[in-house]
Amino acid sequence: MNAPVQLPDAQVVTRITHFTERLFSFRLTRPRSLRFRSGEFVMIGLPGDNGRPLLRAYSIASPSWDEELEFYSIKVPDGPLTSRLQHIQPGDQVILRPKPVGTLVHGALRPGKRLYLIATGTGIAPFASLLRDPETYERFEDVILTHSCRTPEELTYGERLVAALPEDPLVGAHVRKLRYFPTTTRAQSAQMGRITDWIADGRLAARLGLPDLTPSTDRVMICGSIGLNTDIKEILEARGFKEGANAKPGDYVVEKAFVS
Ligand SMILES: Cc1cc2nc3c(=O)[nH]c(=O)nc-3n(C[C@H](O)[C@H](O)[C@H](O)COP(=O)(O)OP(=O)(O)OC[C@H]3O[C@@H](n4cnc5c(N)ncnc54)[C@H](O)[C@@H]3O)c2cc1C
Repeated sequence: MNAPVQLPDAQVVTRITHFTERLFSFRLTRPRSLRFRSGEFVMIGLPGDNGRPLLRAYSIASPSWDEELEFYSIKVPDGPLTSRLQHIQPGDQVILRPKPVGTLVHGALRPGKRLYLIATGTGIAPFASLLRDPETYERFEDVILTHSCRTPEELTYGERLVAALPEDPLVGAHVRKLRYFPTTTRAQSAQMGRITDWIADGRLAARLGLPDLTPSTDRVMICGSIGLNTDIKEILEARGFKEGANAKPGDYVVEKAFVS
């Protein structure tokens, strides 16, 4: 039986999966009143030593229709939150402020033919939500997920996500539209190197058998480190892509996966 909810805004941990010593995912009960758009983030955390909540931004990795909430997290050894969060167990409580926000949402993009989702590390979390949302496949003819990590082990969360999609009752029939392109930057794998280089020199499009990225057909969502985000933005802006926002949809949207 779940522990009684005592903390304000607390939800109960239902499942935890550890992938590497740096990465894990967990699921929480979902407040009945929480509505969000796939791709948004919320503030979650634990009570701090001073009695005040210690909160951090977290993308919701589950789709908006899911009964529970999934999160995919880094473990920073001396990180104020994740040095403790990595030890949560089923039945524990996690604080969740039910105010979802964010720009990695369909409403911030103009209609297009192809959707590119470009993630590094835990930046795949908002895309894990969007890839399980039928609207993603209704809006676009092709969906391309690129995920760059240091080692093949760090790609595991994304690999399992993609492998499970064909069996998904809501999106399984549309998954033929999805192309998955994992890359590693340090350890050897089938595709190595910085995703910025793959995009800038046209190798990504060539490998996928698609035309090079152009704002006339393509829309892009980016979620990585500040450096990665800046580099991809520069490549896109040079090709005429315009940044979108909730109030003014555009050709691409960007969000930080974390603050350095
Ligand atoms: C909009 C937004 C959404 C976010 N979504 C997620 C998410 O879905 N999953 C997640 O794990 N984190 C996410 N983060 C980062 C998260 O808010 C925290 O920074 C992270 O949980 C670490 O918290 P901490 O208190 O342990 O360490 P902090 O003091 O917050 O961070 C310490 C240092 O660790 C590094 N770091 C922090 N987060 C990451 C990360 N995710 N990947 C690599 N290095 C990191 C940075 O160098 C940072 O300076 C998000 C951040 C933003 C701004």
